[in-house]
Amino acid sequence: MNVSYFNVQRFCLQDGPGIRTTLFLKGCPLGCLWCHNPEGRAPRRQLLFRSDRCTGCGRCLGLCSARRIEDGRAAVDRSLCISCGRCVEPCLADCNEICGKEADADELFELLIRDRLFFEESGGGVTVSGGEPLAQKAATVYLARRAREEGISFAVETSGYADPAALLELAGEGALFLYDIKGIDEARHVANTGVSNKRILSNLDTILSEGADVIVRMPLIPGYNDGEDDLRLLSEFLRSVGGKIRGAEIMPYHRIGLGKADSLGEDAGDVKNVPDGRAFAEGWRAALSSSGVEIKVN
Ligand code: SF4
Ligand code: SF4
Ligand code: SF4
Repeated sequence: MNVSYFNVQRFCLQDGPGIRTTLFLKGCPLGCLWCHNPEGRAPRRQLLFRSDRCTGCGRCLGLCSARRIEDGRAAVDRSLCISCGRCVEPCLADCNEICGKEADADELFELLIRDRLFFEESGGGVTVSGGEPLAQKAATVYLARRAREEGISFAVETSGYADPAALLELAGEGALFLYDIKGIDEARHVANTGVSNKRILSNLDTILSEGADVIVRMPLIPGYNDGEDDLRLLSEFLRSVGGKIRGAEIMPYHRIGLGKADSLGEDAGDVKNVPDGRAFAEGWRAALSSSGVEIKVN
């Protein structure tokens, strides 16, 4: 079985308990306005082009019809780029990178468990993130099964917008769910992410009723989903699931996605004006404390 992914990150401390190796899969059905991993959204390979590094040397010109020089720097016509990667090697300024590759699931699994000694010492393991891991549900369930067979902790970072049967299979494999709740008000959820939250909330109910191990994570984005009403609804929601989850975490907005969107030739829109969320985190935590659930800031 082949897996389409764009990164493997070792020694991660924020993707579940202990030291973890995180695999980032390609593909996501959501379109969060604040997406922190925009290079994970498309299922296909993509060119990341960092124009700020370009010296205008021209070595990448003539390789394809997508390239031209504009104002002393290379520019890419995305409608003509087929992500072939021929421009990567000639560029001495490291402007070009192809995001997305395929690997056999078993070979990838061996790579993911290379740090198993650190996992054992720290209570860590493997985390699969994205994109949305359940967009490649067969591969995600397979990796979870391999991890269980090897006695390695397995976590999945999910939007919950997924096939409930696949989520239940993951629960059966003993996966820890790092389950995003991006808002309770349905209309605002649609406006912010492009999809309804009904499926996300009902899937959470389904896996909790089967005793799944869940940490609820709340990405909070100033001005988008942190209004008084949003926090009140989140607090009520946390109170309703409090006895069934392992924990709850606030994920404050960070601006890391902006540079990546720019490298993809995408306009991040108004979210460019949103400040880092860390300064608001304690206020959010205080507002959610009425839920009675202990909340960490990730
Ligand atoms: S990835 Fe290929 S098609 Fe795209 S700009 Fe580079 S050389 Fe041209
Ligand atoms: S090879 Fe690199 S530095 Fe030279 S023009 Fe192309 S992108 Fe710019
Ligand atoms: S669910 Fe994650 S990867 Fe998908 S659009 Fe939202 S932030 Fe980006």
